[in-house]
Amino acid sequence: MVQADADLLILGAGPAGLSAAQYGSRANLKVLAIEKLSPGGQALVIDKLENYPGDVNPRSGFDFAQDMRRQAENFGAEIINDTVLSLRKEGSLFTAALGNGKELRSYAVILATGAVHRSLGISGEAEFSGRGVSYCATCDGPFFKGKKILVIGGGDAACDEAQYLSLLTDQVILIHRRDAFRAQKGLAQRVLRNPNIDVRLNTRPLEIRGDKQVTSVLLENCITNEQYEEPVSAVFVFAGAVPQTGLAPDAKTDEASYIITDQRMASSIPGLFAAGDIRSSPFRQVVVAAAEGAIAAHCAAEYIDTLKP
Ligand code: NAP
Repeated sequence: MVQADADLLILGAGPAGLSAAQYGSRANLKVLAIEKLSPGGQALVIDKLENYPGDVNPRSGFDFAQDMRRQAENFGAEIINDTVLSLRKEGSLFTAALGNGKELRSYAVILATGAVHRSLGISGEAEFSGRGVSYCATCDGPFFKGKKILVIGGGDAACDEAQYLSLLTDQVILIHRRDAFRAQKGLAQRVLRNPNIDVRLNTRPLEIRGDKQVTSVLLENCITNEQYEEPVSAVFVFAGAVPQTGLAPDAKTDEASYIITDQRMASSIPGLFAAGDIRSSPFRQVVVAAAEGAIAAHCAAEYIDTLKP
């Protein structure tokens, strides 16, 4: 009979995966969490995590993720640094094929592979990526200290990152294609009040221009259709995210491709749970991901109990 290598495999070790790893281990499960990069997921690029309940003194997403990892490991979870190439289910066991050629089997899986940034798809974006076009303000902002920077987007990420960039330069232009931000109200108001941020609503980018580096962007006013070239040194794009569902193509998703679960975080595939930014949810936050990871681990433990000899 084929043996399981672990009770629970967790794919992805961002806040959802690390929280699931901690809760799963505390429930006495043998837990293996697999992460292709450094544990922490998108939280790694948060400059100051200011809205995690109980953390009165904001710390970096990196420090937060390190503590989550330590906590999960202290309870016995093992975090493996590798890429999961495929996931299949045979009978009651799941098998994950890893980049190192090994296969790992488990009774249940929590998919916590999150989401990656969405590209705009405009001319010059791919060409100047890494040469002035960036998707991470904390990573690349310091290269453009004192320079004129364009930020694109109207959600929490665009507003948060524009605020961060405004500490590095007094010339941040934030454009959004509609007449109102999608971001949380308090955050949007802080951006609108920030003297270092020039907010231009009803404005969209048409083309990113440059030579070796970005030098300007062609913008269009969505109401008047007036086009103008704005000289800038960098373009930071925050146009939302694309869920990483490739390992579970048969799981039911919503119209935006996020995985649909019930309130136990169970997907349409028995034994496959989903948590964090990959899940269809009205609010994507670190605290929500952590809570979903905890629920997923708890309910996976109950599911595993029904299967284990
Ligand atoms: P988001 O909320 O989906 O916002 C994406 C923004 O990009 C929207 O304003 C959208 O415009 C705009 N956009 C999309 N495609 C575009 C295009 N082709 N051209 C121009 N603009 C385009 O994504 P997000 O800001 O990355 O946030 C993702 C999730 O993470 C959200 O749930 C958010 O709450 C969460 N988050 C939270 C925090 C925080 O709590 N501090 C920080 C970061 C992220 P429309 O509005 O017109 O659609």
